[in-house]
Amino acid sequence: MLRQTAMLVLTLVAAGGPLVAQAGRDDAAQRARRQAMVDVIVRAGVRDTTTLGAMLRVPRHEFVPADVRDLAYGDHPLPIGHGQTISQPYIVAFMTEVLGARPGLKVLEVGTGSGYQAAVLAAIGCDVYTMEIFEVLATEAAARLRLLGYDGVRVRHGDGHHGWPEAAPFDAVIVTAAAGYVPPKLLEQLKPGGRMVIPVGSVYGVQNLILVEKDPRGRMTTRNLLPVRFVPMLEGLR
Ligand code: SAH
Repeated sequence: MLRQTAMLVLTLVAAGGPLVAQAGRDDAAQRARRQAMVDVIVRAGVRDTTTLGAMLRVPRHEFVPADVRDLAYGDHPLPIGHGQTISQPYIVAFMTEVLGARPGLKVLEVGTGSGYQAAVLAAIGCDVYTMEIFEVLATEAAARLRLLGYDGVRVRHGDGHHGWPEAAPFDAVIVTAAAGYVPPKLLEQLKPGGRMVIPVGSVYGVQNLILVEKDPRGRMTTRNLLPVRFVPMLEGLR
């Protein structure tokens, strides 16, 4: 009996290494919080199961600074340093749904931030290109995405106003900082039949989330979706 107990303890200790490491990364408690976050998003009106499935899988707590990790699954934005934020989960889900994200969609994101939105798109199977104007944020997000296994995401330090001409055209463009105007180069780099979601408006005043659609003949139509509040889209590298 004694020997059996000792062996059991030994087995558990031996198994403990990798299991404990994994649990620290994404344990049952975090998964339960994430499910509650997705429940809130569903109640807010997001129905696309592809989007909801990705939001259930991506460990949002890994994308926020350690001191706010306990708040990672609340439906609000959180600070990520340099005056920047990770967007509210509902907004991430809403924009992902509006974009029509699905496997193989080639997407340009402007405003990498923490890398969370890029990870949600990658979890869906999109081919993700993401740009960030703060070099430190771009470097950190790239490392985080690689560590968490989203290694297909391409991250570039750059000003999103110019887009990513070498990788263009894109099926979809998602801008996660508020622009004063829709940057013409982003419109150029959108494929016919493509969609762009972008918050447009002033820094402290009203901003609207806009859907821009380019029809197969290259004509644009825009639709106002939702009043929002994003950090400003900056000019000039940092
Ligand atoms: N999508 C991010 C949240 C973005 S917050 C996430 O999931 O965490 C907006 C981000 O846009 C900030 O990190 C900000 O530094 C960046 N940004 C602002 N202006 C930019 C520009 N012109 N080009 C690229 N990134 C920009």
